[in-house]
Amino acid sequence: MKKMDFRVFKTSGFISTNTYFFKIKNETYIIDPGYGVKKYVGEVPVHVLLTHGHFDHIAGLEELNVIDVFISNEDKEMLTDPNKNFSYLFGEKFTFYGNTKNIDEYFSTIKVPGHTFGSRLIVIENLIFTGDTVFCNSIGRSDLGGSREYMKETIKKLKDFFFNINENSLILPGHGDICSVRDLIRINPFFKRGLV
Ligand SMILES: [Zn+2]
Repeated sequence: MKKMDFRVFKTSGFISTNTYFFKIKNETYIIDPGYGVKKYVGEVPVHVLLTHGHFDHIAGLEELNVIDVFISNEDKEMLTDPNKNFSYLFGEKFTFYGNTKNIDEYFSTIKVPGHTFGSRLIVIENLIFTGDTVFCNSIGRSDLGGSREYMKETIKKLKDFFFNINENSLILPGHGDICSVRDLIRINPFFKRGLV
């Protein structure tokens, strides 16, 4: 199988969010557009997929020519509430009122509550977009509108998932480096084999 092509852009300034770009059948898709995304994408119409609703992953929405936004039902209200998307921490009141759709109905997702209640892993072919739930060497924090207890359950569930998929699949997190599932299991203390 030919691996799907994607590009990654660093957005949201010093926070350095990974914004992903790929095409399916000539349509352009963006995952987690941080601010500054426009300089990479321009005016082309895009579909936007969101792993969750935090400000550094959605701040670029207003820069883009957005056709529709796919987000979980639980995190949807973060688009319209600065207190829930945490833009107020950056001295902003970010809201987005566009055409939103329930991501679970259109894409292959895994529910991973913890970092936020509506966080999703998005799985497209051999690519696993993990947002701020899983990084190559760590997991996301749960003190920005999330839940530690839920995160524990999520990690348990994801161990099963990662141990049973092709190890060449790629982990594409919301920040930091990209790695293979093989590397994740080797490097990330939360997903080491043998540990419960
Ligand atoms: Zn986040």
